[in-house]
Amino acid sequence: MIKKVRSHISQNEPLLFERSSPGKRAYQLPELDVPAVDPAVELGAGNVRAEIDGFPEISEVEAIRHFTRLSTWNYAIDYGMYPLGSCTMKYNPRVNELVAKIEGMAWAHPYQPESLSQGSMEVMARLESALAEITGLHAVSLQPAAGAHGEMAGILLIRALLEKRGNPRKKVLIPDSAHGTNPASAAIAGYAVENIPSNEAGLLDLAALERIVDGDVAALMVTNPNTLGVFEQNIVEAARILHSKGAMLYMDGANMNALVGIARPGDFGVDVLHLNLHKTFSTPHGGGGPGAGPVAVTKELEPFLPIPRLKRSGKKWAWDYNRKQSIGRVRAFYGNFGVLVRALAYILAHGGPGLRNATVDAVLNANYIRKSLEPYYDLPYASPNMHEVVFSDARQEKSGVRTGDIAKRLIDYGFHPYTVSFPLIVHGALMIEPTETEGKMELDSFIDAMTSIAKEVEDDPQLVKNAPYSVRTSRVDEVAAARKPVLRWKPGN
Ligand SMILES: *Cc1c(COP(=O)(O)O)cnc(C)c1O
Repeated sequence: MIKKVRSHISQNEPLLFERSSPGKRAYQLPELDVPAVDPAVELGAGNVRAEIDGFPEISEVEAIRHFTRLSTWNYAIDYGMYPLGSCTMKYNPRVNELVAKIEGMAWAHPYQPESLSQGSMEVMARLESALAEITGLHAVSLQPAAGAHGEMAGILLIRALLEKRGNPRKKVLIPDSAHGTNPASAAIAGYAVENIPSNEAGLLDLAALERIVDGDVAALMVTNPNTLGVFEQNIVEAARILHSKGAMLYMDGANMNALVGIARPGDFGVDVLHLNLHKTFSTPHGGGGPGAGPVAVTKELEPFLPIPRLKRSGKKWAWDYNRKQSIGRVRAFYGNFGVLVRALAYILAHGGPGLRNATVDAVLNANYIRKSLEPYYDLPYASPNMHEVVFSDARQEKSGVRTGDIAKRLIDYGFHPYTVSFPLIVHGALMIEPTETEGKMELDSFIDAMTSIAKEVEDDPQLVKNAPYSVRTSRVDEVAAARKPVLRWKPGN
């Protein structure tokens, strides 16, 4: 009889603290051949960290195995489809990594003199101009480190321009379908946030906009296509209304994967937008790693962009710090350079027609999923969608199964969950974005999984409500994890 045993690598991996034993080291240094000094004396006691209580002592191989084992518990885009709506989890082509690893790029240091940084500066200049061309806007700053950071920089730019015109104004309008970072960014930039409701089609309500925009409104922040994946058809008219009343149009460009090579925000009246290079331009994201949220602006907003700005000085690139109207720095140095290199590699590898094809395929894939799953899941907004599709759990809710349960069951089928319960205007949302990365076979197995789960809900709702079964940890107490996080290990906890 074969008795199933759990192999040592599939056991729950202990914490490093639990592996620790005194005196173990991951390295050995040779004996000192110079006189020893006391760091506390040389550097000042305030600059030297005291020992951390219980800091783990382990060998190199234990550290490597610990993290390698943990990594095998994780889901990754290199492993399968990652249909997280709004997040554009596309595959990161390996050529990007190859380029980012080139010695001069990988080892470039921000304190390197300009004369030795010409190549890196050229990379940034080319990326700026490619992004300006893609967005149809006049100038780009690569400094912001993420989408939300780009939003904050963008709203500060609007504030600076309005201040120069004499009145920074008080309010920023945000549709009820917006990403949560939008109101947070507006508030950090000192504005009161006013919600503007969507109409039945899930689109901007122009009549409401006309009514609400007054001399107190600084800007409208809009995502286009919006978080339902629907293109704001009245965007030109919305821009006209705002501009006629001295307000500006901010576009959240996180959904640019639906537009690149097809439509340019600068052409439809946008004054400032941010891009998520770690979404649309394929650089890896997740887990709080580095990203980039460049802002693109009209000519009128250009003088306010963060310093330093790249400028041509004869045949060379130089950093220009002497810009009196600039909002100042928004980040140390020049942005997350490695991310910028990958994005430029992605853009150049595709070329214009290739980027356009990626957009077309992203929209095709989302619509293939929409058509295939429509018989099984409720579609609250019938408007044509672009690169993502939002269903609701209205049918499954009748059996007591919610979007979060379906998402957990999807894990058992080998897929990362879709985005759960967002956008907020859809009760029980299932937000699915396949991206252009996925081929038909992978899409079909995702559709099979979703179809099969819909049938399970009818036959045995409890089965779905207790999922997942195939992972080490099934349902965790998410409320306790958020309210009482344990951030520091102490012996015995
Ligand atoms: C991802 C996203 C953001 C925020 O971007 P981060 O890089 O995560 O800060 C903002 N708006 C929308 C619509 C997004 O999808």
